Amino acid sequence: MKKEHWALVSLSVNLLQTLLKLIGGLFSGSLSLIGEAIHSLSDSFASIVAYLTLKFSDRKSARFPYGLYKLENVGSFVIGIFLLLAAYEIIKRALTERVSIKEEGWSFGVVVVVFSLFSSLTLSFLERRAAKKYNSPTLLADSYHTLTDAFGSSLVLMSFLSVYLGHQLDRYFAVAVSLLIIWTAVGILRKEMGVLLDVSADEKTLQKIREVILSFEDVVEIKNLFVRSSGGKLFADITLTLSGINFEQMHSLVDELENKLKKEINELEMVFIHYEPAETCTPRVGILLNSEKEVASKFDDSRHLLVFCNGGSRLIESLPEDELGISREVVKHSINILVSGHHPETQEAKLMLSKAGVFVWETEEKNPYKALSQIASGLGIS
Ligand SMILES: [Zn+2]
Repeated sequence: MKKEHWALVSLSVNLLQTLLKLIGGLFSGSLSLIGEAIHSLSDSFASIVAYLTLKFSDRKSARFPYGLYKLENVGSFVIGIFLLLAAYEIIKRALTERVSIKEEGWSFGVVVVVFSLFSSLTLSFLERRAAKKYNSPTLLADSYHTLTDAFGSSLVLMSFLSVYLGHQLDRYFAVAVSLLIIWTAVGILRKEMGVLLDVSADEKTLQKIREVILSFEDVVEIKNLFVRSSGGKLFADITLTLSGINFEQMHSLVDELENKLKKEINELEMVFIHYEPAETCTPRVGILLNSEKEVASKFDDSRHLLVFCNGGSRLIESLPEDELGISREVVKHSINILVSGHHPETQEAKLMLSKAGVFVWETEEKNPYKALSQIASGLGIS
């Protein structure tokens, strides 16, 4: 079964439950069951809204160049409001009117509730399994929601069972069902409000995007990464510093990066990448620092790279732990003169530095700023 098909299964279950709960509620006079019917109806609406936006929201026009993805969020927002109003109505009726479950409708009501309970539990279980298979957070969220649906049905079941034991408690269970509905509604409203106000994508998505970007060696730094969601789609604004040599190279790199991002992150609809060349200055001095931020005495003790350029300095943290990785970072930041306690030991690292024209300046000085002034006086600059 495909991912989209789950939405249809969920819709069918909810529509069937709405119909049965409504008939059962009217037939038995159970207010809690009518409340559950409204809840199932709103769940059906939510599935329909999700389906319609999936179908139509990617139609872009001159007036809506970003597409209509937020239709889904607006739709869900309206459903949230509808749920709040419905819950209010039920609570009002529960508190002011005579509520009791009639004997004639009792058995039918119980059949409806037991059916709803088991269909929701089964659906929730199947959705959860499918969510793991497709790695889909939407499906997982839906499976949790279906579980709360099962909880709603079990509240109504308790109401019917209490009648069997001789107590008419339906008004209280109706209030309990309403509170569950309010809880659902508040969850929906909070989430949709966030999306409508362009809340950032979650940290997991941001991290995945960062990883893809940094897998490109010429990316020196991610200056900005803004990702917002709209419907089920993501829009990203990225500013990068690149070490590319000329404009064409940088441009084709960015094209490649865009394609890779879209391939790795399916929900990504639009990516805007702004890029700027890494700052130019000569000589560009880099100092390798150990974990205490002193000049590293051995090359592979280096943890940070302190870069001096045009009178300013910048600290590159968390260097790789091997000599080749460190050398690669040094080259990436276009260092001309590298200050370190020692040269690297491995041939590969030595080769990489010399190919890139990096001059390694050995020093016994521990203080990076004193080491820098040694170089300055050595080169005759101050
Ligand atoms: Zn529900």
